[in-house]
Amino acid sequence: MLKAVLLFSNFASLFIHLKKKIMKQTMPINGKFSLAELPYAPDALEPVINAETINYHYGKHLQAYVNNLNALLPGSPFENLSLEEIVRKSDGAIFNNAGQILNHNLYFSQFAAPKENNTPSGRLETAIKQQYGSFNAFREAFENKGSTLFGSGWVWLSRDQAGTLKITQEHNAENPLKKGLTPLLTFDVWEHAYYLDYQNRRAAYLAELWKIIDWEVIEQRY
Ligand code: MN
Repeated sequence: MLKAVLLFSNFASLFIHLKKKIMKQTMPINGKFSLAELPYAPDALEPVINAETINYHYGKHLQAYVNNLNALLPGSPFENLSLEEIVRKSDGAIFNNAGQILNHNLYFSQFAAPKENNTPSGRLETAIKQQYGSFNAFREAFENKGSTLFGSGWVWLSRDQAGTLKITQEHNAENPLKKGLTPLLTFDVWEHAYYLDYQNRRAAYLAELWKIIDWEVIEQRY
């Protein structure tokens, strides 16, 4: 009995260890990255994000970044590095495509079907309340960073090594990982992310996104 319990706990810790590793590193297979699978159907996020946007944004834009990176890697010093290492170490076209793959992987994997009153729980909820006063105050600060980012980019919630939360604006393909932060939550404010659904109304898109955040995913990243 004791043996069985020990065996089980060993397996459990191995599984947790593997899961953490997978979350931290995205490795190429036979030198190629592939399009990450969506954890939901293309119409699952409607009406916040419509299937047509998913088909273009995920199916065309993200696929193009994957194809571009795979074409650029052979013969470069970044072959066989993880996506995260490429983002940390590269610049130019390789960085732009790798950064956009990492950013979009974090973006698309953080959503689930819309829910009203969709808020975080547990340690993350406590940290948000401690730092921002309330979830609504945090939400306002985050949306404001998204609305005021000029041009193309991303607004991020990250944690630093001490566990302090940070909201940052990152231009183009940048990721807070390069500042030593752990990215938790991101809103894509490139026009391709919202134009089909919201046209020029970026603030409306940002306000709607809270309904489809899968807080379990964000809490796991935290
Ligand atoms: Mn995008």
